[in-house]
Amino acid sequence: MTQITHWINGALDTTKPERSGDIFNPATGAVTKTVAFGNAATVDRAVDAASLAYSTWRHSSLTKRTQVLFAFRELVQQNKEKIAALITDEHGKVLSDAAGEVTRGLEVVEFACGIPHLLKGGFSEEVSTGVDVYSIRQALGPVAIISPFNFPAMVPMWFFPVAIACGNSVIIKPSEKDPSATMLMAELWKQAGLPDGVFNVIHGDKEVVDALLTHKGIKSISFVGSTPIARYVYETGTKAGKRVQALGGAKNHMVVLPDADLELAADAAINAGFGSAGERCMAISAIVAVEPIANALVARIKSRMANIKTGDGTQGSDMGPLVTAVHRDKVASYIEAGAKAGATLVVDGRALEVAGDGFWLGPTLFDNVTPDMSIYKEEIFGPVLSVLRVKSYDEALALVNSHEYGNGTAIFTNDGGAARRYQNEVEVGMVGINVPIPVPMAYYSFGGWKNSLFGDSHAHGAEGVHFFTRGKVVTSRWLDPSHGGINLGFPQND
Ligand code: NAD
Repeated sequence: MTQITHWINGALDTTKPERSGDIFNPATGAVTKTVAFGNAATVDRAVDAASLAYSTWRHSSLTKRTQVLFAFRELVQQNKEKIAALITDEHGKVLSDAAGEVTRGLEVVEFACGIPHLLKGGFSEEVSTGVDVYSIRQALGPVAIISPFNFPAMVPMWFFPVAIACGNSVIIKPSEKDPSATMLMAELWKQAGLPDGVFNVIHGDKEVVDALLTHKGIKSISFVGSTPIARYVYETGTKAGKRVQALGGAKNHMVVLPDADLELAADAAINAGFGSAGERCMAISAIVAVEPIANALVARIKSRMANIKTGDGTQGSDMGPLVTAVHRDKVASYIEAGAKAGATLVVDGRALEVAGDGFWLGPTLFDNVTPDMSIYKEEIFGPVLSVLRVKSYDEALALVNSHEYGNGTAIFTNDGGAARRYQNEVEVGMVGINVPIPVPMAYYSFGGWKNSLFGDSHAHGAEGVHFFTRGKVVTSRWLDPSHGGINLGFPQND
């Protein structure tokens, strides 16, 4: 069986691992590969390689960096289907979804190709007589990225193109559940001409993450995952003196006002609730229906759910399996809890039958959910939609704003004034207006509020460049040649 191992200094690491993990194909339930788990010694080797590479990469010209980024962009584009196939194999999402996440990641590479422009500083001439002030931004050093299972290509690509473009070297720790996409991208960086040691991949679990969080050679941590781990990573990393951005979990609300186009809203609920089996940090999981439209909306969502084809992501299905059996069982336990708590179970995904041992759970819809229920309070991260009925816009807004998470939200309405008020008043980092999954383009920044993000920098865009560089301001005075020194032919003024 193939064992995936670390990629350090431009080559596969041959050290025999003390521990390893299984990688499943979620559509069949079979173990298809194993992955080596690293430890503190693995992190030491990766940091040594990244530190050495950084000492020259930081001096590479902006032209050279841009050429490597453009070459990498072409290679990822050429290998998009191959990367997507690896994602579907290990994560389970359908192929079109997997290709879509590679496209969104590529947009960040394209953004980073503009690094010469993005790193331009400011210049103030003559702040005092003969004195100029200018600002520059410099790389940090070796930086670490720790990513979740649900976007094995896109989430790492939120960070590493920008980090590398800014002159840093990178150590990435992908999810141990689906690490192959990152490994293929490591090979593509090498083909693109990136010097060995600038991009390193190490695998593992808490042991290797802890070593990254405390290693003196690592200058920053970019983390994406669940909120308890994000909080832990933020607290541990900052205590060790590092710059940390830690993106956490979510519970995204879609508010539907009475004047909304209900066909559009129902389509949006289906795509945003069940796409990628709800394993998206921007998935819609709570629908807030402002009366009197709840009955009509629930009926439309229910009828569309009957058309969702759940099955193997390589076989033209709409929705694939969940990532592991453990996760499938956890999501199913929320369905049990919701029904017990008194919510109306309109469609029960547990009834779905698919042949084989895959980690299946069908799309599920609850109505009459109330804010005290665990299916509303907690992140489920599966194909479960909850409808909450409220009487007014103000009640809907108060509900969204009192939730602990603030990653994304959407409002469906035909009233521009209501939408404008919502974008102003809602305490959430990313807002969609008649758009259910408002993931910002690469040249804006991605990030939530409240317990959805620890730290103050969002991913990519201007905030990404800011996160991966340190500012320096130079105040300089060059005496006019007439003040002395070598006589260059200027009139002397004494
Ligand atoms: P996770 O928190 O279990 O794992 C994330 C990373 O942390 C992985 O690399 C994992 O190996 C590591 N890790 C796990 N347990 C750890 C521990 N005890 N100590 C140190 N490191 C540990 O998350 P996941 O299940 O892989 O991903 C799903 C979660 O990620 C969801 O909560 C989802 O909302 C969130 N997510 C958030 C965003 C966002 O932008 N806010 C984007 C994608 C996913």
